[in-house]
Amino acid sequence: MRVINHWVGGQPWKRPPEQTADVYDPASGAISARVALASPSEVDAAVASAKAALPGWRDTSLAKRARILFAYRELLERHKEELAKLVTAEHGKVASDALAEVSRGIEVVELACGIPHLLKGEIAENVSTDVDSYSLRQPVGVVAGITPFNFPAMVPMWMYPIAIACGNTFVLKPSERDPSASSYCAELFHEAGLPPGVFNVVHGDRVAVERLLEHPDVAAISFVGSTPIAKHVYETGTKHGKRVQALGGAKNHMLVLPDADMELAADAAIGAAYGSAGERCMAISVLVTVGSAADRLVPLLEERIAKLRVGPGADPRSEMGPLVTKAHLERVRGLVDAGVAEGATLVADGRDPSIPGCEGGFFLGPCLFDHVTPAMAIYREEIFGPVLGIVRADSYDDALALIHRNPYANGVAIFTNDGGVARKFQHEIEVGMVGINVPIPVPMAYFSFGGWKASLFGDTHVHGPEGVHFYTRGKVVTTRWPDPRFRGVDLGFPQSR
Ligand code: NAD
Repeated sequence: MRVINHWVGGQPWKRPPEQTADVYDPASGAISARVALASPSEVDAAVASAKAALPGWRDTSLAKRARILFAYRELLERHKEELAKLVTAEHGKVASDALAEVSRGIEVVELACGIPHLLKGEIAENVSTDVDSYSLRQPVGVVAGITPFNFPAMVPMWMYPIAIACGNTFVLKPSERDPSASSYCAELFHEAGLPPGVFNVVHGDRVAVERLLEHPDVAAISFVGSTPIAKHVYETGTKHGKRVQALGGAKNHMLVLPDADMELAADAAIGAAYGSAGERCMAISVLVTVGSAADRLVPLLEERIAKLRVGPGADPRSEMGPLVTKAHLERVRGLVDAGVAEGATLVADGRDPSIPGCEGGFFLGPCLFDHVTPAMAIYREEIFGPVLGIVRADSYDDALALIHRNPYANGVAIFTNDGGVARKFQHEIEVGMVGINVPIPVPMAYFSFGGWKASLFGDTHVHGPEGVHFYTRGKVVTTRWPDPRFRGVDLGFPQSR
């Protein structure tokens, strides 16, 4: 059985793992590999390797750092199909979706290639007579990244390319459910010329996370995952004096007004709800319809659901793959059962999909509920599966109030042809990422990604300018070169002259 081990100090970890967990092929349900679960001492070794590499990397010129990032970008581009295959094999998402994920990750590497420009500070001449001031941004030190299963290639790339470009060294703890993509990226990054120890990968579970959270040599933590763990990571990491950004879960609403183009809205809702089997933090899981919109939308959704091809991710005919694990499948199916028991109308029931040849796979077909109410578990909980619920609202104001009552605030979309209402919505909605006739408004790498409320703990979003800010500390230098005119002791507080 293949064993996926850590990557420390620019090479695969030599010692056999003390503990391992099974990794599954979600399409067949078979165990495909075993992944190392790091002990605290293995985490310590990875952090020590990052710490040892820090002085050299911090002092490496911006031009050289950029050149290594360009080389990494080229290698990723050349090997993106292999990387996408690893994602499909362990996560289950269809090949085209895995490739799109890798491409969105590469965009962050491309942003990081521009690091010489991104790190430029400001200068002001003559802030006082013959005195100049300028600002610098310097790396924070050893940074740890802890990432979820649902984007095993892209979410780590939201973090480490920028952190490393800024002069930090990095320890990544990817999801133990689909670990291979991170190990593969570590290999490519080193092939690109990254010095040993600058990028390390420790595989593991909560034991590894806890050690990173309390480790005295880790200066900052980037986390992406579910809200309870994000909160824990934020509270524990900050308690140990670290800078922490922790992105949490989501319950994303798509508001459909009666004047919207219903065909377009139906296409968008299907893609956003069932793409990647709903295992996206930006997936639409609630349609909030106003007035007559639901009656016109439901038949259009049913038509499209009937045509969706569910199957193994590696089959090019599949549009939707399996869920990541059996336990997750059972949880999602349980929530569908709860929706039925609580009185929502199950318009499309995907609970028993028939996928010939994949009988052991973790499949759930697309499910659509109408007449969902905010009290139901299928509305309250983040399902993270192919389950879409429709909540009918009487007016725009009622719909807005509903969205605002929800504790999550990652993404939201409005579908309308009325520019005035769309602008009002964009202004007043309390959600971090907003789409206007765009169902999954994931910002490009040069903007920053992140939600509000229970979808984010900390102040800083990932990548873009906020990413650079998170991975650097500001410093302001004030200079005056010796000038005999200013001889003499002055105990007064410095003032401009
Ligand atoms: P998760 O919270 O279970 O795991 C995330 C990471 O935390 C993993 O590396 C895991 O090993 C670790 N972890 C799990 N349990 C832990 C514990 N008790 N103590 C310490 N560490 C622990 O999340 P997941 O199931 O892998 O991913 C899905 C979740 O991630 C969803 O809630 C989704 O909304 C969220 N997500 C959010 C964003 C965003 O940008 N806001 C993006 C992607 C995913």
